[in-house]
Amino acid sequence: MNLNYYMPTKVIMSSNCIRENGAIFASLGKKAMIVTGFQSAKINGALEDVTTAMKQAGVSYVIYDKVMNNPTIDCAYDGAAFAKENGVEFIVGIGGGSPMDAAKAMALLASQEIEPDHLFSGDYLDQVLPMIMIPTTAGTGSEVTQYSILTNDKVQSKTSISSPYLFPKYALLDGKYMSSLSLVNTIHTAVDALSHSVEGMLTKRATVISDLLALESIERITKVFPALLKWKESGENLSIEERDELLYGSTLAGMVIAHTGTTVVHSMGYSLTYFKDVDHGRANGLILPSFLNFVAKQEVETVNRMLKAMGYTSLMEMETMIVALLGEREPMTEDEINHYTEIAMNAKNVLNSRITPSKEDVLQMYVRCL
Ligand code: NAP
Ligand code: FE
Repeated sequence: MNLNYYMPTKVIMSSNCIRENGAIFASLGKKAMIVTGFQSAKINGALEDVTTAMKQAGVSYVIYDKVMNNPTIDCAYDGAAFAKENGVEFIVGIGGGSPMDAAKAMALLASQEIEPDHLFSGDYLDQVLPMIMIPTTAGTGSEVTQYSILTNDKVQSKTSISSPYLFPKYALLDGKYMSSLSLVNTIHTAVDALSHSVEGMLTKRATVISDLLALESIERITKVFPALLKWKESGENLSIEERDELLYGSTLAGMVIAHTGTTVVHSMGYSLTYFKDVDHGRANGLILPSFLNFVAKQEVETVNRMLKAMGYTSLMEMETMIVALLGEREPMTEDEINHYTEIAMNAKNVLNSRITPSKEDVLQMYVRCL
């Protein structure tokens, strides 16, 4: 049996888990830096719950609320400088994957000197500010992964910092913060989470435990797809139970990729985000059906297990649902496809798939999906 399991993040999921766990904040230090995006944490109640819990627990804080979508390397250094200036002892990330990933890079850069050229080396000291993550999208699973993904202009793509030191100490999950998430962001992030579990099962690093987590998360996430479609068609928002299902599913999917990493789907998606500003989850969703069709002949058993968990009888049925959720696709020129193929082939995750695509395969996947 092939087994390897490590998950050092303590996960707590319940309604009001932030206000009820003030002691967790106090256990990590007397002063924190809270990292958020520009707006949503202030609107969805998560920031207020965190500051209230901290005040009650006698913890002081500063707020860094300047993280943009798909955060840059400069943003990570800027936030780290702010953390150092303020002498904070721990970091709290609130938001989607962008603020959480930025918060992780800041926790690393605030505690040791790392030159930008060395940032993605993986060679760090065991000295990172402890972190608490509070996801407000149900997508990336960053709250339970050792990755921080930053926009890297040098390679015109996104690059992952990966280190076991980047696992947060705590992930606090409460689906109610997602009630304010728009239909489009809810769909795109849910598709990202699905992609993590599906890709994870098709990697060389998949294990019996990661497959178990992946199948459970695939089932939970796809169970909500008809309600997402209904929302799209009739305007009826998800229930809090459905929000919780997506959040639970996405955190499980994060545990999957913490073990397996992602595949060529993510490397291909990064170009759509970098050059065309396509949301991260949407970019993966556009490519995922083509990738599954590409591996299907050789991965019959795994694909059938995934389809069973989704409640579909064929890949076509799955593709129809994804296409209906994502709507009209972005056009791409032949030159763009050639350029993105070159970039995708240079990413590390291409070699992580059990069925490794050639350059021509990647090109054909772009052509097929767009
Ligand atoms: P995101 O970029 O964090 O957020 C997208 C948008 O959603 C932002 O405008 C944000 O607004 C808004 N938003 C967030 N929570 C909201 C809420 N509860 N209500 C209303 N609006 C809300 O999106 P994401 O898809 O979660 O994260 C994508 C990033 O994660 C990418 O950079 C991707 O590469 C990375 N990622 C990381 C991992 C990992 O393992 N670390 C895995 C997959 C992807 P504000 O800016 O105002 O907050
Ligand atoms: Fe992702």
